[in-house]
Amino acid sequence: MKMRARDLLHPRPEGLYCPPGDFYIDPVRPVERALITHGHSDHARPGHAKVLATRETLDIMAIRCGPDFAGATQAMRLGEKIRLGDVTVSFHPAGHVLGSAQIAVERNGMRIVASGDYKRAKDPTCAGFEVVPCDVFITEATFALPVFRHPAASDEIGKLLKSIRQFPERAHLVGAYALGKAQRVMRLLRDQGYDRPIHIHGALTRLSEYYQGQGVDLGDLQPATVEDGDKADFAGAIIVAPSSTFADRWARRFPDPLAAFASGWMRIRQRAKQGGVELPLIISDHSDWDELTATIRDTGAGEVWVTHGREEALVRWCELNGISARPLHLVGYEDEGD
Ligand SMILES: [Zn+2]
Repeated sequence: MKMRARDLLHPRPEGLYCPPGDFYIDPVRPVERALITHGHSDHARPGHAKVLATRETLDIMAIRCGPDFAGATQAMRLGEKIRLGDVTVSFHPAGHVLGSAQIAVERNGMRIVASGDYKRAKDPTCAGFEVVPCDVFITEATFALPVFRHPAASDEIGKLLKSIRQFPERAHLVGAYALGKAQRVMRLLRDQGYDRPIHIHGALTRLSEYYQGQGVDLGDLQPATVEDGDKADFAGAIIVAPSSTFADRWARRFPDPLAAFASGWMRIRQRAKQGGVELPLIISDHSDWDELTATIRDTGAGEVWVTHGREEALVRWCELNGISARPLHLVGYEDEGD
């Protein structure tokens, strides 16, 4: 008898569950065995008995959650196949952040790919997305509206460099999520020849050092601490920090700070305005509308499950294109990191 896809993976309150393999993918509650796609905190939570993930994702979880984040861990190499119960599991690059992976689950000739978060745009800080042909493709839908079309990240970085030339006396505060986005912004600056020190908020230190240790050269990084009297040192400097810190006293110590924010949400002018962002930079680690629809076609999947975000538009696009689709209504995932 032919197996149904939902017998291989289906949503439970804890997350996506695979009964024949007895594991969860990116569970939001503590479970016995978790397979984790990447280190963002809505996907990688502490407290599971066993965690399987890429070496980088395990390292990132240890940095963010402490060394005792799981009872036991197992590092998965990209492309390596292992047997869990009655299923075969493999991890494949997702192009989202360092260590991010899609998880392919196979049994009796049926393959489901849970992609986690992913993007197709080039990113010098992580392995590029790999298309894994499958019967069912599970996708996020963070930016799943035709209005979301991300421009080239290099052009957005060009805007930042132009602003520094225009306002050499102002400190440029660049808001960026601590895992992935911040390091990508710094690497993109280096790619465009910016060779001055980049100042970073303390919340970015360990993750940025980890990226550097993994061969992602971010150049000279300096702590963004203002002591009395050295305020002028930050004239025309770039300071990268989580945008949540912009309202702190810390941010007001810099000379005439100019707030920039690197996020896919900066496509929405209103969001930038409300957040007091003077220089919006549309740089996203998630797929835009074109990337989402192209990826669904590339996988050849006859069926698509949508996890979180703007599910309705993507489900409708699939139906109009002869692909059956349904929202999974998974809870607990935010648009973190973008
Ligand atoms: Zn993510």
